[in-house]
Amino acid sequence: MTRESAAAPGLREPASRNPIVAGNWKMNGDHAFVERYVASLREADLPSAVELVLCPPTCYLSALARADLGIGIGGQDVHWLDAGPCTGSVAARMIRDCGATWSIVGHSERRIGLSESDEMVADKVDAALRAGLRVIVCVGETLAEREAGSAETVVLRQLDTVLARVPEAALAQIAVAYEPVWAIGTGRTATPEVAQAMHALVRARLIEMNAESAMSVCILYGGSVTPENARLLAREQDIDGALVGGASLDPGDFLRIAGAFAERATGALQSRAAGA
Ligand code: PEP
Repeated sequence: MTRESAAAPGLREPASRNPIVAGNWKMNGDHAFVERYVASLREADLPSAVELVLCPPTCYLSALARADLGIGIGGQDVHWLDAGPCTGSVAARMIRDCGATWSIVGHSERRIGLSESDEMVADKVDAALRAGLRVIVCVGETLAEREAGSAETVVLRQLDTVLARVPEAALAQIAVAYEPVWAIGTGRTATPEVAQAMHALVRARLIEMNAESAMSVCILYGGSVTPENARLLAREQDIDGALVGGASLDPGDFLRIAGAFAERATGALQSRAAGA
């Protein structure tokens, strides 16, 4: 595995937050898929300016972690309890024990499909932090909520319920993923401007909690991210990376998306806010 060099001279200063590009494999893959994926990443130049995280199904966490690729490994969910009579569930400390350093929590496929409430999500974030995991907290409105004009209210409600449980000192351990539900797996992406507006709102809320830590929290965009739209999204000031579903199943596409955010981090891709 080789790693490309950091900022080229004369380009914009690297952003103070290293972007994060996380792949959510959802309920896809098998051991052979993991082996092929690992082989592809070993042959690739992994961007050093971006933190890469892969979130396979729980049963493949150990295999991916053992490959020791030098990237983050994440679960897709945790239970809010550390142990107990919860058939079929997995505790945060178990995810950690399998080699994960991250977990996604609050994905809309669980909030909506499995009726997870804001409070359950907050309990899960608390459990993940207790277990020493970093957490990608997903928030996002449905199409009906956006059309009713309540997108911001919904996202802030979801975020506030979690933030109420995150001690200020742990703020740096979370990343927030804004994932409009209408853009997930639909091929329909929020425009960079729509996404940036929501990210700025999330940032403002984080700043209210702790101005200094808020600037180091990555706010990821998720919803049909592709190598093509990633370059546009990466130009926005508060879009600090991506949570990628479908496109992360192809290691080439995943790395091309990471490449777009690496260019932003090294200054090769000027942010719109910087006047490009
Ligand atoms: C996701 O599931 O988090 C996601 C963003 O999926 P997709 O990229 O396939 O829309």
